[in-house]
Amino acid sequence: MLLNQQLVQQFVAQAISFGDYEQEDSIYIQNQLLRILNARGVTEALKSPLAKDATANEITQYWINEAINENCIEDGLYVREIVEAQLLDLITPRPSVINRKFREAYEQSPEMATNYFYEIAKRNHYVKEDAIANNINYEVDTEYGDIEITINLSKPEKDAKQIAKAKAAPATEYPKCALCIENEGFQGSVTQAARANHRVIRLNLDGQPWGFQYSPYAYFLEHSIVFSEQHVPMEVNKQTFVNLIDFIKKFPHYFIGSNADIPLVGGSILSHNHYQTGRHVFPMDNATEIEKFNITDFPSVEASTLNWPMSVIRLKSKNSSELIQAATHVMTQWNQYSDNSVDIKAYSKEGERHHTITPIARYRDELYELDIVLRDNQTSMEFPDGIFHPHKDVQHIKKENIGLIEVMGTAILPGRLKEELQQVKSYLLGAVHINLGVHKQWADDMKQTYDIDTDNVNKIVDNEVGYKFKRVLEDAGVFKNTKFGRAAFKRFIDIL
Ligand SMILES: [Zn+2]
Repeated sequence: MLLNQQLVQQFVAQAISFGDYEQEDSIYIQNQLLRILNARGVTEALKSPLAKDATANEITQYWINEAINENCIEDGLYVREIVEAQLLDLITPRPSVINRKFREAYEQSPEMATNYFYEIAKRNHYVKEDAIANNINYEVDTEYGDIEITINLSKPEKDAKQIAKAKAAPATEYPKCALCIENEGFQGSVTQAARANHRVIRLNLDGQPWGFQYSPYAYFLEHSIVFSEQHVPMEVNKQTFVNLIDFIKKFPHYFIGSNADIPLVGGSILSHNHYQTGRHVFPMDNATEIEKFNITDFPSVEASTLNWPMSVIRLKSKNSSELIQAATHVMTQWNQYSDNSVDIKAYSKEGERHHTITPIARYRDELYELDIVLRDNQTSMEFPDGIFHPHKDVQHIKKENIGLIEVMGTAILPGRLKEELQQVKSYLLGAVHINLGVHKQWADDMKQTYDIDTDNVNKIVDNEVGYKFKRVLEDAGVFKNTKFGRAAFKRFIDIL
């Protein structure tokens, strides 16, 4: 295939203006384009098939489709992603340049620095705004305040051919995992993400090297990951609080939180220590503080419980080191705490640890805040998936682990629900011969409860999904919001 000369010029102009290149690099960039796309040359024609102001990403998508049609590159999702990342790498400054400019912008303000880096991540399509726009987002009003629902439609599905190829691919140990810093600039393969256009900001948290990057399929504004430069397992301990607070001091306009460090109650990656951060205000941030109390030995720290489906202790102080001490005290007490009357148990008979926390830090009203969400990962005969995990009757909406983002009141629900909820709605409006499978009982309950018509069906189903998610969080809560549960929570607070 031949590349349209006008498009090449448009792309080269952007590589010069945004990347590391100068005018004299034009022919060199043109030849990189030919190499990456397996193209033979450049046309004489000057008329561009795209608008004059087409972005480098738009040109890239156009060329990839053309290259597939002309059999220059293989038609497969991972091949597309590798070619895309390589092309857009050309409009991305190299890591040392980005890090230097980030530090320079930081001298103006932390916000200028993150804005600078975020613009690059969007421009080079590392953050996939177009895909994220496919997600369905809405809010549902509950007794805990508004909660957020996201039906995740942003991640492209791997086709059967790629899945088969990935199965046959030899195991590789480089990079060790998807979070490792060795992904910066990595080509990718059938089993590993294409990262040629990926850049990492170097951070120092409490004297240790960490990396900062945006998340390609963001669940909220400026969703980003902070990860250890070492491939070491997740661990929530005193150092976690130290690191979270250090990050908040450096980037007070972002929140930061960590997933739990034991199975069933945390995120999907336990093998590499990392946190999640970003600019979003979550439903839990706005939860009402109910019972306020003091913790002996930490007079500067204000403590409270929250009106929230999960069990949270919020600590606030101007004094960050005392706050860290207090948080460590609460965590240590929780990690050893058992209360048979509410099925809470710190260790199994064999000595396996069941308790941990999900910590979240933010800076608000000139105070440092740490939210400590109490977690317990026991299973039982009655609840083999987890006692404090979504129970069977709500798993048709959410059966995965309840991680940091859900804990804070933002449901990330599987894409399959888009189609399934359409079917539920058709059924509620009287369609027969629909096999609703796991949703049948729920749909029949709605039929009993509501007078449903075409005007209100969307609202009713949207809200009911929200109520199910509320139940999911209540299942994950260790102290239930009942008189009995609150009394048990009070007993734990009394030992602090
Ligand atoms: Zn790793």
